Amino acid sequence: MPITPPPLFRREVTSAEDYISKVGNTPLVRLNGISDEIKRNILVKLEFLNPSGSIKDRAGVYLVQDAIQNKGLKPGGTLVDGTAGNTGVSLCAFAKLQNYKVVLFVPSTLIQDKVDKLTNYGAEIKKIEIDPKDSLHINVLAAEYASGLDNGVHVDQMNNLNNQRAHFENTGPEIWKQTNGEIDAFVCGSGTGGTFSGTTKYLKKISNGKVKAIIADREGSGLDHYIRSHGAAFQAEGESFIEGVGKLALPGNLKDVLSLADGSYRVLDSEVIPVIYRLIDEENIRVGGSSGMNITTAIKYAKTLPEGSTVVTVSPDDANNYASKLFNKKWLIEKGHWDVIPDHLKKYATY
Ligand code: PMP
Repeated sequence: MPITPPPLFRREVTSAEDYISKVGNTPLVRLNGISDEIKRNILVKLEFLNPSGSIKDRAGVYLVQDAIQNKGLKPGGTLVDGTAGNTGVSLCAFAKLQNYKVVLFVPSTLIQDKVDKLTNYGAEIKKIEIDPKDSLHINVLAAEYASGLDNGVHVDQMNNLNNQRAHFENTGPEIWKQTNGEIDAFVCGSGTGGTFSGTTKYLKKISNGKVKAIIADREGSGLDHYIRSHGAAFQAEGESFIEGVGKLALPGNLKDVLSLADGSYRVLDSEVIPVIYRLIDEENIRVGGSSGMNITTAIKYAKTLPEGSTVVTVSPDDANNYASKLFNKKWLIEKGHWDVIPDHLKKYATY
Protein backbone atom coordinates (compact mmCIF):
# COMPACT_ATOMS: atom_id res chain seq x y z
CA MET A 1 0.00 0.00 0.00
CA PRO A 2 1.62 3.28 -1.10
CA ILE A 3 2.51 5.64 1.72
CA THR A 4 1.28 9.24 1.30
CA PRO A 5 4.18 11.71 0.81
CA PRO A 6 4.98 13.61 3.99
CA PRO A 7 3.55 17.10 4.49
CA LEU A 8 5.94 20.03 4.05
CA PHE A 9 5.91 20.72 7.77
CA ARG A 10 6.15 17.73 10.08
CA ARG A 11 5.73 19.94 13.14
CA GLU A 12 3.27 22.77 13.61
CA VAL A 13 4.86 26.05 12.58
CA THR A 14 3.14 29.45 12.77
CA SER A 15 5.74 31.92 11.48
CA ALA A 16 9.33 32.21 10.28
CA GLU A 17 10.44 33.06 13.83
CA ASP A 18 8.58 30.03 15.16
CA TYR A 19 10.19 27.86 12.47
CA ILE A 20 13.69 29.07 13.36
CA SER A 21 13.06 28.46 17.05
CA LYS A 22 11.98 24.89 16.33
CA VAL A 23 15.05 23.92 14.30
CA GLY A 24 17.62 21.87 16.19
CA ASN A 25 17.72 20.78 19.83
CA THR A 26 16.76 17.33 18.62
CA PRO A 27 16.77 14.32 20.95
CA LEU A 28 19.88 12.15 21.20
CA VAL A 29 18.77 8.57 21.82
CA ARG A 30 20.69 5.42 22.75
CA LEU A 31 19.93 2.47 20.50
CA ASN A 32 19.42 0.12 23.43
CA GLY A 33 19.15 -3.23 21.65
CA ILE A 34 22.25 -2.74 19.53
CA SER A 35 24.26 -0.95 22.27
CA ASP A 36 23.61 -3.71 24.80
CA GLU A 37 24.50 -6.37 22.26
CA ILE A 38 27.84 -4.84 21.23
CA LYS A 39 28.63 -3.43 24.70
CA ARG A 40 29.32 0.00 23.23
CA ASN A 41 26.89 2.94 23.23
CA ILE A 42 25.48 3.95 19.87
CA LEU A 43 23.71 7.30 20.20
CA VAL A 44 21.69 8.83 17.37
CA LYS A 45 20.50 12.39 16.99
CA LEU A 46 16.99 12.31 15.54
CA GLU A 47 17.27 15.04 12.94
CA PHE A 48 14.09 14.02 11.12
CA LEU A 49 12.28 15.78 13.97
CA ASN A 50 13.26 19.16 12.53
CA PRO A 51 10.23 21.11 11.20
CA SER A 52 10.54 20.12 7.52
CA GLY A 53 11.63 16.60 8.36
CA SER A 54 15.39 16.67 7.96
CA ILE A 55 18.76 17.84 9.20
CA LYS A 56 18.84 20.32 6.32
CA ASP A 57 16.66 22.76 8.24
CA ARG A 58 19.77 23.58 10.25
CA ALA A 59 21.77 24.68 7.21
CA GLY A 60 18.60 26.04 5.55
CA VAL A 61 18.02 28.63 8.26
CA TYR A 62 21.63 29.82 8.18
CA LEU A 63 21.73 29.95 4.39
CA VAL A 64 18.48 31.90 4.07
CA GLN A 65 19.55 34.30 6.81
CA ASP A 66 22.83 34.81 4.94
CA ALA A 67 20.86 35.56 1.77
CA ILE A 68 18.75 38.17 3.59
CA GLN A 69 21.36 39.75 5.81
CA ASN A 70 24.46 39.64 3.59
CA LYS A 71 23.30 39.18 0.01
CA GLY A 72 20.47 41.66 -0.19
CA LEU A 73 17.54 39.27 -0.66
CA LYS A 74 14.35 41.25 -0.25
CA PRO A 75 10.76 40.09 0.39
CA GLY A 76 9.34 38.35 -2.67
CA GLY A 77 12.82 37.41 -3.89
CA THR A 78 14.01 34.07 -5.22
CA LEU A 79 16.18 31.45 -3.54
CA VAL A 80 18.07 29.39 -6.13
CA ASP A 81 20.09 26.23 -5.61
CA GLY A 82 21.06 22.91 -7.11
CA THR A 83 19.28 20.29 -5.03
CA ALA A 84 16.63 17.65 -5.42
CA GLY A 85 16.79 16.64 -1.81
CA ASN A 86 16.08 17.77 1.70
CA THR A 87 17.67 21.21 1.25
CA GLY A 88 15.12 21.92 -1.46
CA VAL A 89 12.32 20.96 0.91
CA SER A 90 13.78 23.11 3.66
CA LEU A 91 14.06 26.13 1.34
CA CYS A 92 10.42 25.64 0.34
CA ALA A 93 9.44 25.62 4.01
CA PHE A 94 11.19 28.92 4.63
CA ALA A 95 9.84 30.39 1.40
CA LYS A 96 6.28 29.53 2.32
CA LEU A 97 6.59 31.40 5.59
CA GLN A 98 8.30 34.49 4.16
CA ASN A 99 6.87 34.68 0.65
CA TYR A 100 10.02 33.89 -1.27
CA LYS A 101 10.16 31.92 -4.49
CA VAL A 102 12.33 28.81 -4.80
CA VAL A 103 13.98 27.67 -8.04
CA LEU A 104 15.77 24.33 -7.91
CA PHE A 105 18.15 22.96 -10.55
CA VAL A 106 17.95 19.17 -10.69
CA PRO A 107 19.32 16.43 -12.97
CA SER A 108 16.98 15.61 -15.85
CA THR A 109 17.08 11.99 -14.68
CA LEU A 110 15.40 12.84 -11.37
CA ILE A 111 12.42 10.57 -10.80
CA GLN A 112 9.07 12.23 -11.42
CA ASP A 113 7.67 11.67 -7.93
CA LYS A 114 10.49 13.78 -6.49
CA VAL A 115 9.84 16.52 -9.05
CA ASP A 116 6.13 16.34 -8.18
CA LYS A 117 6.85 16.49 -4.47
CA LEU A 118 9.04 19.61 -4.77
CA THR A 119 6.59 21.27 -7.16
CA ASN A 120 3.86 20.51 -4.68
CA TYR A 121 5.87 22.24 -1.98
CA GLY A 122 6.02 25.34 -4.20
CA ALA A 123 9.38 25.04 -5.99
CA GLU A 124 9.96 25.75 -9.67
CA ILE A 125 12.07 22.92 -11.09
CA LYS A 126 14.70 23.36 -13.83
CA LYS A 127 15.77 20.02 -15.26
CA ILE A 128 19.36 19.90 -16.46
CA GLU A 129 21.25 17.32 -18.51
CA ILE A 130 24.36 16.70 -16.45
CA ASP A 131 27.69 15.20 -17.19
CA PRO A 132 27.88 12.27 -14.74
CA LYS A 133 31.49 13.21 -14.06
CA ASP A 134 30.68 16.78 -13.12
CA SER A 135 28.00 16.97 -10.46
CA LEU A 136 29.00 20.53 -9.55
CA HIS A 137 27.88 21.72 -13.01
CA ILE A 138 24.31 22.09 -11.75
CA ASN A 139 25.61 24.43 -9.08
CA VAL A 140 27.32 26.60 -11.67
CA LEU A 141 24.07 26.87 -13.65
CA ALA A 142 22.15 27.79 -10.49
CA ALA A 143 24.69 30.56 -9.80
CA GLU A 144 24.37 31.93 -13.36
CA TYR A 145 20.58 31.89 -13.17
CA ALA A 146 20.52 33.70 -9.80
CA SER A 147 22.93 36.37 -11.00
CA GLY A 148 20.50 37.19 -13.83
CA LEU A 149 17.64 37.89 -11.39
CA ASP A 150 16.84 41.31 -9.91
CA ASN A 151 16.07 39.94 -6.49
CA GLY A 152 17.52 36.47 -6.38
CA VAL A 153 20.29 34.72 -4.46
CA HIS A 154 22.24 31.56 -5.15
CA VAL A 155 22.02 29.72 -1.83
CA ASP A 156 25.01 27.48 -2.69
CA GLN A 157 24.71 24.84 0.03
CA MET A 158 27.80 23.13 -1.42
CA ASN A 159 30.26 25.97 -0.94
CA ASN A 160 28.57 28.48 1.35
CA LEU A 161 30.32 28.00 4.69
CA ASN A 162 27.24 29.14 6.60
CA ASN A 163 26.13 25.55 6.02
CA GLN A 164 28.86 24.09 8.20
CA ARG A 165 28.62 27.05 10.60
CA ALA A 166 25.10 25.90 11.49
CA HIS A 167 26.57 22.60 12.68
CA PHE A 168 29.58 24.18 14.38
CA GLU A 169 27.34 26.50 16.36
CA ASN A 170 24.48 24.08 17.05
CA THR A 171 24.81 20.37 16.21
CA GLY A 172 28.29 20.05 17.75
CA PRO A 173 27.49 21.93 21.00
CA GLU A 174 24.18 20.05 21.37
CA ILE A 175 25.99 16.68 21.10
CA TRP A 176 28.68 17.74 23.58
CA LYS A 177 26.05 18.90 26.06
CA GLN A 178 23.78 15.87 25.59
CA THR A 179 26.68 13.45 26.20
CA ASN A 180 28.21 15.50 29.04
CA GLY A 181 31.40 15.35 27.00
CA GLU A 182 31.42 11.54 27.23
CA ILE A 183 31.83 10.86 23.55
CA ASP A 184 34.62 8.90 21.88
CA ALA A 185 33.67 9.30 18.24
CA PHE A 186 31.40 11.09 15.81
CA VAL A 187 30.38 9.20 12.68
CA CYS A 188 28.58 10.80 9.75
CA GLY A 189 28.22 10.75 5.96
CA SER A 190 28.85 13.68 3.67
CA GLY A 191 26.74 15.24 0.95
CA THR A 192 27.63 18.90 1.07
CA GLY A 193 29.90 18.07 3.98
CA GLY A 194 28.21 20.66 6.19
CA THR A 195 27.17 18.27 8.96
CA PHE A 196 30.45 16.37 9.07
CA SER A 197 32.63 19.48 8.89
CA GLY A 198 30.85 21.76 11.34
CA THR A 199 30.19 19.08 13.94
CA THR A 200 33.67 17.57 13.66
CA LYS A 201 35.40 20.92 13.95
CA TYR A 202 33.43 21.74 17.11
CA LEU A 203 33.89 18.33 18.75
CA LYS A 204 37.62 18.26 17.97
CA LYS A 205 38.02 21.78 19.36
CA ILE A 206 36.09 21.29 22.60
CA SER A 207 37.72 17.89 23.30
CA ASN A 208 41.25 18.98 22.34
CA GLY A 209 41.22 16.49 19.49
CA LYS A 210 40.11 13.54 21.65
CA VAL A 211 36.86 12.84 19.78
CA LYS A 212 37.52 10.76 16.65
CA ALA A 213 35.70 11.69 13.44
CA ILE A 214 34.77 8.97 10.97
CA ILE A 215 33.20 9.47 7.53
CA ALA A 216 30.40 7.04 6.73
CA ASP A 217 29.88 6.22 3.10
CA ARG A 218 27.69 4.13 0.81
CA GLU A 219 28.44 1.67 -1.94
CA GLY A 220 29.15 3.29 -5.28
CA SER A 221 30.24 6.50 -3.62
CA GLY A 222 32.34 8.94 -5.64
CA LEU A 223 33.65 10.42 -2.40
CA ASP A 224 34.74 7.03 -1.07
CA HIS A 225 36.74 6.45 -4.25
CA TYR A 226 38.29 9.88 -3.95
CA ILE A 227 39.38 9.25 -0.37
CA ARG A 228 40.74 5.77 -1.09
CA SER A 229 42.67 6.96 -4.12
CA HIS A 230 44.19 9.73 -1.94
CA GLY A 231 42.55 12.44 -3.96
CA ALA A 232 43.63 11.08 -7.33
CA ALA A 233 40.18 11.05 -8.89
CA PHE A 234 36.47 10.71 -8.57
CA GLN A 235 34.95 7.85 -10.51
CA ALA A 236 31.41 7.59 -11.83
CA GLU A 237 28.93 6.99 -9.05
CA GLY A 238 27.62 3.46 -8.63
CA GLU A 239 24.13 2.48 -7.62
CA SER A 240 22.75 2.66 -4.07
CA PHE A 241 19.35 3.42 -2.61
CA ILE A 242 21.03 5.79 -0.15
CA GLU A 243 20.55 9.41 -1.16
CA GLY A 244 22.17 12.70 -0.22
CA VAL A 245 25.70 11.43 0.44
CA GLY A 246 28.83 10.13 -1.28
CA LYS A 247 28.68 12.53 -4.18
CA LEU A 248 30.95 12.94 -7.14
CA ALA A 249 32.40 16.19 -5.99
CA LEU A 250 34.41 17.79 -3.24
CA PRO A 251 32.26 20.68 -2.00
CA GLY A 252 33.77 23.72 -0.34
CA ASN A 253 32.09 22.62 2.87
CA LEU A 254 34.06 19.36 3.00
CA LYS A 255 37.38 20.33 1.45
CA ASP A 256 38.92 22.02 4.44
CA VAL A 257 38.03 19.30 6.91
CA LEU A 258 38.88 16.03 5.16
CA SER A 259 42.27 16.09 6.86
CA LEU A 260 40.52 16.09 10.26
CA ALA A 261 38.84 12.74 9.55
CA ASP A 262 40.34 9.81 11.45
CA GLY A 263 39.03 7.29 8.95
CA SER A 264 36.22 6.37 6.62
CA TYR A 265 34.07 3.29 6.13
CA ARG A 266 31.93 2.27 3.21
CA VAL A 267 28.91 0.08 3.93
CA LEU A 268 26.74 -1.88 1.53
CA ASP A 269 22.99 -1.44 1.02
CA SER A 270 22.59 -5.07 2.06
CA GLU A 271 24.24 -4.28 5.41
CA VAL A 272 22.22 -1.12 5.96
CA ILE A 273 18.72 -2.42 5.21
CA PRO A 274 18.60 -5.05 8.01
CA VAL A 275 19.76 -2.40 10.48
CA ILE A 276 16.93 -0.08 9.42
CA TYR A 277 14.40 -2.90 9.84
CA ARG A 278 15.85 -3.82 13.23
CA LEU A 279 15.43 -0.23 14.49
CA ILE A 280 11.74 -0.24 13.55
CA ASP A 281 11.24 -3.36 15.60
CA GLU A 282 13.45 -2.58 18.58
CA GLU A 283 13.39 1.19 18.92
CA ASN A 284 10.20 2.14 17.09
CA ILE A 285 12.04 4.55 14.78
CA ARG A 286 11.88 4.49 10.96
CA VAL A 287 15.09 6.05 9.75
CA GLY A 288 16.04 6.83 6.15
CA GLY A 289 18.87 5.47 4.00
CA SER A 290 21.74 7.73 5.03
CA SER A 291 20.69 7.33 8.68
CA GLY A 292 20.91 3.56 8.29
CA MET A 293 24.30 4.02 6.66
CA ASN A 294 25.51 6.25 9.52
CA ILE A 295 24.28 3.83 12.17
CA THR A 296 25.70 0.75 10.41
CA THR A 297 29.06 2.52 10.18
CA ALA A 298 28.87 3.65 13.80
CA ILE A 299 28.33 0.02 14.86
CA LYS A 300 31.27 -1.20 12.75
CA TYR A 301 33.58 1.47 14.08
CA ALA A 302 32.41 1.11 17.70
CA LYS A 303 33.41 -2.55 17.61
CA THR A 304 37.03 -1.45 17.06
CA LEU A 305 36.89 0.62 20.28
CA PRO A 306 37.07 -0.66 23.89
CA GLU A 307 33.85 -1.86 25.55
CA GLY A 308 31.82 0.96 27.06
CA SER A 309 32.87 3.47 24.35
CA THR A 310 30.33 5.93 23.03
CA VAL A 311 29.84 6.65 19.35
CA VAL A 312 27.44 9.38 18.21
CA THR A 313 25.85 9.73 14.81
CA VAL A 314 22.91 11.53 13.19
CA SER A 315 19.70 10.46 11.48
CA PRO A 316 19.34 13.08 8.68
CA ASP A 317 15.84 12.05 7.62
CA ASP A 318 13.25 9.31 8.06
CA ALA A 319 12.09 6.38 5.96
CA ASN A 320 9.15 8.23 4.38
CA ASN A 321 11.40 9.49 1.60
CA TYR A 322 12.44 5.96 0.61
CA ALA A 323 9.35 3.90 1.38
CA SER A 324 8.74 2.93 -2.25
CA LYS A 325 12.07 1.07 -2.22
CA LEU A 326 12.86 0.28 1.39
CA PHE A 327 9.49 -1.26 2.24
CA ASN A 328 8.66 -2.61 -1.21
CA LYS A 329 9.01 -6.39 -1.35
CA LYS A 330 9.25 -6.39 -5.15
CA TRP A 331 12.12 -3.87 -5.16
CA LEU A 332 13.90 -5.65 -2.32
CA ILE A 333 13.72 -8.97 -4.18
CA GLU A 334 14.87 -7.38 -7.46
CA LYS A 335 17.92 -5.82 -5.78
CA GLY A 336 18.78 -8.97 -3.86
CA HIS A 337 18.06 -7.46 -0.44
CA TRP A 338 15.03 -9.50 0.57
CA ASP A 339 17.02 -12.39 1.95
CA VAL A 340 19.18 -10.16 4.16
CA ILE A 341 16.10 -9.11 6.15
CA PRO A 342 15.54 -11.52 9.05
CA ASP A 343 12.23 -13.41 8.67
CA HIS A 344 10.64 -11.93 11.80
CA LEU A 345 11.22 -8.39 10.42
CA LYS A 346 9.86 -8.98 6.90
CA LYS A 347 6.41 -7.90 8.12
CA TYR A 348 7.59 -4.26 7.90
CA ALA A 349 7.80 -4.46 4.09
CA THR A 350 4.31 -3.02 3.72
CA TYR A 351 4.57 -0.80 0.65
N1 PMP B 1 21.49 12.45 4.36
C1 PMP B 1 20.50 13.02 3.68
C2 PMP B 1 19.22 12.28 3.53
C3 PMP B 1 20.66 14.29 3.13
O1 PMP B 1 19.65 14.85 2.46
C4 PMP B 1 21.89 14.95 3.27
C5 PMP B 1 22.07 16.30 2.65
N2 PMP B 1 22.53 16.24 1.30
C6 PMP B 1 22.92 14.31 3.96
C7 PMP B 1 22.68 13.08 4.51
C8 PMP B 1 24.28 14.91 4.08
O2 PMP B 1 24.34 16.07 4.85
P1 PMP B 1 25.38 17.20 4.48
O3 PMP B 1 24.89 17.88 3.25
O4 PMP B 1 25.37 18.09 5.68
O5 PMP B 1 26.69 16.55 4.24
